[in-house]
Order: sequence, then C-alpha cells, then structure tokens
Amino acid sequence: MALKHDREWDYELERIVDAVKERNATTVGLQFPEGLKRRGPNVVDDLRANLSDGVQVMLSGQPCYGACDLDTYLMRRTDVFVHFGHSPMKDSEKIIYVPLFSNVDVEPILTESLDELADPAADPDVGLVTTAQHMNKFEGMRAWLEDRGYTVHVRRGDDRLTHEGQVLGCNYASAEVDADQILYVGGGKFHPLGLAMEHPQKRVVIADPVNNAVSIADTEKFMKQRYGAVHRAMDAETWGVIFCTKIGQGRWDQAEEIIEANEDAYLITMDEVTPDRLTNFDMDAFVNTGCPRITTDDGPRFKKPMLTPGEYEIAVGEKPLEDLEFDTFHGTW
Ligand code: SF4
Repeated sequence: MALKHDREWDYELERIVDAVKERNATTVGLQFPEGLKRRGPNVVDDLRANLSDGVQVMLSGQPCYGACDLDTYLMRRTDVFVHFGHSPMKDSEKIIYVPLFSNVDVEPILTESLDELADPAADPDVGLVTTAQHMNKFEGMRAWLEDRGYTVHVRRGDDRLTHEGQVLGCNYASAEVDADQILYVGGGKFHPLGLAMEHPQKRVVIADPVNNAVSIADTEKFMKQRYGAVHRAMDAETWGVIFCTKIGQGRWDQAEEIIEANEDAYLITMDEVTPDRLTNFDMDAFVNTGCPRITTDDGPRFKKPMLTPGEYEIAVGEKPLEDLEFDTFHGTW
C-alpha cells in the first residue's frame, strides 16, 4: 500500500481500500471522533494514493462521541462509510468500523489492583469489565487474573455492546455477573461511577492504566450533585424535553410519555445538546432523553437543571427520591 504519511496508528487502510474496490464505490465518507479528527486529512491522503482518481473521499465535520453517533447524512450519500475509533454498535454492510486500541501496558495496574481485590483464597470470584479502547488486552487480563487464582466472570451485556466485558457510558450490563467485586480496567471517572451506581451491591475496583492509579468507585459526590439538580427542578413550571436526533441516542417513547402527561412540557429536537443551544429557550428545567453522559457529566455546565428521565419522575413527584438511579440505554436502533 502506498502511504503518504507515517502511520500514527493502524487504521486498516487495506480493509478500506479493498471494500472500496469490491463495491466499485465512487464516494467514501470518513467519520472520526473528536480526539482523532486531526488525523483525518492524512487518512484521506493515503486513500487518494491508493484509489483511482474517480473516487471522492469526504470527511465528516459533525461532532462525534460514540458508535451511537453516526453522521447519517454522509452515510446515506456515500458508497462506503468508515467510522473510526469505536467498536460496532450495529451490524451494517455499509459501515466499516475501525476501532482504536490503546497501546498501554495493563499488567502494572493489574498488579496494583491486587491490593484492593479480595484475596482469591477468601473470594475468588471477580467480574472483569473494560472499555472498547482496552478490548485488545481483555483476554490477557482475564488470563492474568486466572493465573493468580481468581475465577473471572464475564458476559456480553446486550446488543448495544460488541464484546464480552465491554461497558459504555450508558450501558453496564456486562457487569451483571455472579461476583461481589468488579474490576474495571480503564480511564476516566464516568464509567466506574456508572458501574457503581448500576451495581450498588458490588465493590467496584478501578484500575486506571493511563493515570496509573487504583481506587474504589465512590458515588457520594455524584449522588449529591444529582440530588441537587433534582431539588432545583422541583419548582419548575416549564420543562424542555430533549429528543436527541443522533441515530443511536433517540428514545422517542420516553420523550413522548413526558409530553403527553405534562402540558407544561415542550419537545425540543436537537443533535448536539449544549448549554448554548438551550439558553434561548425560556424553560425552568430540562429532561434529556439522549446520552446520559451529557446530563450527568456535563450537567453542572447547564444554566438550568438538566435531568435524566428517571430524575424527572422524582422531581414531579411520580417517584420517591430513593429511586434515583443511573440512566442507561439498552439495545440499538
Ligand atoms: S449514548 Fe453516550 S455514553 Fe452511550 S455510547 Fe453514545 S456517547 Fe457513549
């Protein structure tokens, strides 16, 4: 294969070129998540160097944060559509998914995590989960734990997930295993929080191989933030109910149910849910039926309370405060 640039990562150029040739494609769409967009022009150059002049290669400029977030405009208008950086959420002949795996060595952090996991002689059962970025190391992690006497429990949660042991910010079903402790290998605060909220009976040990830190998930601060948002929304007279138009984030039934039951609720359709875009709506509070990470992780950035559908039910008195739980998505579209 002709390469115009040093390859920063293996983005499976051969697979893409083969697919374009096999399908006699004349148009190719490329979609990168935010952190990889800067690599897009180099990938276009490499494709141009390996395809005939009649093939037009286009980049999606739409924001992208997950496999739920495909540029449907570009997808419909191209013969081959390549989505980089995430593992497949839905089987489709049209879409080529090119995942991006981390190169980080996970063994040092697994060794450190032994300080927080129960001694296998006392409790050998451990659930193992990680994010798509570390999936290439999953079997190695499992074998490493088994070699040290653990019985490792894994499952593929549901069809929103590609792999056994995979978690998303909106889906922790892979942790529903027969073990009281879960080892989460991955970065960030959001996933382990979601895990701990979704599985409150389990001890969630976080092994972060990027920041080289092991900790125990603690939901207290997060719960306080969510209780605060619910309390502030309790006096709301007008509600904006957001239906997200991103292909894998639409929960129409939930949005419709709220609108039908509350005459002071107004349906707002949008793709990117940002504080700026909501400022001009004169609402007292919002309910987001789209990505739960926007509601909870970005929640403090919104000028008005932003609730999940479950939190809305609490704020309007349909459910008690004790029923507050993490918002999750199941299935695809
Ligand atoms: S809905 Fe949000 S958390 Fe779930 S996959 Fe999409 S971007 Fe990630």
